[in-house]
Amino acid sequence: MTDLQLTAFDRDFYAREIRGYLPSTVIDCHSHVWTRDHLLPTDEITASRSASWAASVAEVSPIEDLERAYRELFPDQRVTPVLMPGIETTLDGVLNNAYVSKEAAERGYPSLALTKPELSAIDFERLIESGGFLGCKPYLNFAPAYLPAAEIRIFDFLPHHHLEVLNRRGWIAMLHIPRPGRLGDEVNLAQLEEIARRYPHARIIVTHIGRAYDPAQIGRGMEVLARSTNFFVDITANTNAEVMERLFDSVGSERVMFGSDLPIFLMRAHRKNVDGSYVNVVPAGMYGDVSSDPTMEDGADFDTTTLLLYEEIAAAKQATDALSLSSAEVTDLFYTNAARLFGVGR
Ligand SMILES: [Zn+2]
Repeated sequence: MTDLQLTAFDRDFYAREIRGYLPSTVIDCHSHVWTRDHLLPTDEITASRSASWAASVAEVSPIEDLERAYRELFPDQRVTPVLMPGIETTLDGVLNNAYVSKEAAERGYPSLALTKPELSAIDFERLIESGGFLGCKPYLNFAPAYLPAAEIRIFDFLPHHHLEVLNRRGWIAMLHIPRPGRLGDEVNLAQLEEIARRYPHARIIVTHIGRAYDPAQIGRGMEVLARSTNFFVDITANTNAEVMERLFDSVGSERVMFGSDLPIFLMRAHRKNVDGSYVNVVPAGMYGDVSSDPTMEDGADFDTTTLLLYEEIAAAKQATDALSLSSAEVTDLFYTNAARLFGVGR
């Protein structure tokens, strides 16, 4: 993981915005771990279709670094992660799944298996069951290679034969919404509605609030999420208080969960929204040359810019304050809902 060096500004930000807001026990429903042992040789790497800035934060993310990051970032909380492998095409998914399975079992953490759409139903079920996973983490990088990124649909990487297994077993999928239209995209919404109708016992976490990082990207997404109780939503890697307010307002506080997306949300940046999409403003040079990435911009002041993860939690606070949610409802968001879904503390 990146060398985590908290500044005086970070510590002050934590004391001001976070320490008194978070409950004493927290579940991070969305974290990624992998090690150097899982890096593929360069000639075996296929094209990636995920946000390119994410890879600039951490080359590896071993479990020990994750646990140390929690201790440093949240000194007054005890954090239990839900572990997932990395989702980059630079990694060996089979070895990474085995690592997650082993570390999760040893430490008593819940975990999700990285699954690729070409797995047969039997192999999919066997992988999850034998690894002690509670479900799957499919990802658009593993949709058939001939599909351009903008044309990938949910069923291209979370196919029906996997959903049938999830439905039968009551298992969980951590679903990253594809397509440039994000949560508001009508193709996505049609497929989400089909999942709700056909697979009501599968538990689907629509992660990153469906990648609606700006209110302009919501469309009628909140209505669709609100209608089906097998949809859960995590606020992972989202820093937009207005989007979160719309989420709590429509979906309520019982199906929304906190997640960090560590290691990538260790990025030191301020996220701003320009014309309906996000830009991470970072200290010049800190993440290399960002001039070719429209979602990155140099120019943040190192001494007065905190980590995106702290910004995410501050946005949640702003949203729950605006709606006057009770501290019990805030505890639902940061602990209870995930504890119930993942069986933590049982
Ligand atoms: Zn993630």
